Amino acid sequence: MAVNLLVSLPRSFPSPIRSEFVEFDLPFALRILPRTLGARSFQLSITVETPSVTEASGTAAERGPERSRSGLGLGRYLTGVAGGWWDKWMVMGAAGSKLEKALGDQFPEGEHYFGLENFGNTCYCNSVLQALYFCIPFREQLLYYYSNNKNLGDVEENLLTCLADLFTQISSQKKKTGVIAPKRFVQRVKKQNEYFRSYMHQDAHEFLNFLLNELADILEKDSDAAKDSTETSSSSEKLANGPNHSLPNGVPKEPLLTWVHRNFQGILTNETRCLRCETVTARDETFLDLSLDIEQNSSITSCLKNFSSTETLNAEDKFFCDKCCSLQEAQKRMKIKKPPHILVIHLKRFKYVEQLGRYKKLSYRVVFPMELKLNTTVEDIDSEYSLFAVVVHVGSGPNHGHYVSLVKSHNHWLLFDDENVEMIDESMVQTFFGSSQEYSGNTDNGYILFYESLGGKS
Ligand SMILES: [Zn+2]
Repeated sequence: MAVNLLVSLPRSFPSPIRSEFVEFDLPFALRILPRTLGARSFQLSITVETPSVTEASGTAAERGPERSRSGLGLGRYLTGVAGGWWDKWMVMGAAGSKLEKALGDQFPEGEHYFGLENFGNTCYCNSVLQALYFCIPFREQLLYYYSNNKNLGDVEENLLTCLADLFTQISSQKKKTGVIAPKRFVQRVKKQNEYFRSYMHQDAHEFLNFLLNELADILEKDSDAAKDSTETSSSSEKLANGPNHSLPNGVPKEPLLTWVHRNFQGILTNETRCLRCETVTARDETFLDLSLDIEQNSSITSCLKNFSSTETLNAEDKFFCDKCCSLQEAQKRMKIKKPPHILVIHLKRFKYVEQLGRYKKLSYRVVFPMELKLNTTVEDIDSEYSLFAVVVHVGSGPNHGHYVSLVKSHNHWLLFDDENVEMIDESMVQTFFGSSQEYSGNTDNGYILFYESLGGKS
């Protein structure tokens, strides 16, 4: 029996993709209904409609309400099979121009909005990269470092050069929108860290943490190497310190702070007060991000309050007081001594549940404001911050799902979903707070928040 396949494509289909589509081998099984058995041939027609970009969310296989239609309901299958190039076509053709159209005259001068190709569960990486790209001081200092460092001779490839290369590639594009494949960078990540080598779903926060620490290490090593070769202030060290850093002569040098530290590092003070002698012991520790425990129907402000709340150490958990020379009951408190320029807040949405023997995702509603006040110990002055990026975890479980990022650029909010970039209204941001009921459908939740200090560079 012969099957005639008619595929109607909209005119707007670019012709190379048209022919690619027509030649496409359709590997689906046809289920022949009893009443068609008698026929010598029949026609199967599939109509493909131009998809609208707003329909795209979730993974390629889940995506696309009726991107194509067929009489036998095979459209969805077809979409799944052809999903890879379809997404690319959408972005390169429709979505790119759509974003440019949406922004029109307001498209920021010199800015580039590029989607990042996904190499199989690399959305954890893409979402973090977009947040960092739109962290302007970080981007500028990375590009500055790289453009100067390139001239110092042959530098061995490392995570820093791969990231700088990627950012340079994006920022030097002639086109304003499109898609870039962060292939070298992803390969480097996998080469360097076994943890990210598999195709499994990874944790975006772990990745961010790994990346920032790695970048800081590379800059420190660069600086050490430069110190070894020349005792005088070297150009490489200056670069590690970034463009705006200079020490007046005669001021004793502090331990080297790279520009990664100067952007993200803050200092916490861990204060312990002995309840017998009242002696306060303070210990400082640095952080690149704050991990906060979350509660249902709460806010970042209340999570931060809990983070800094007083805890009593007693019973099994007593504190050794140096003055009393014995274990004593004590009160412990964490305070922010030096707020970072870029405040990264990680919400602990993945919680180990002992009864279940596994991690569980908490979709709790945690409100994160556009403007945040951070209480510090510095003369009790609040530091003010403004939200510029959110990495969102999509999905109900910890071991699967998807990551996207929301980014504020030149007062517009954009949603980056791997290859796709679209404009969103600021009011959309609050749909990512979480859900006030445990079993609601809302599983797209803010996971890592990026705030920039309004107080200028610290
Ligand atoms: Zn004491």
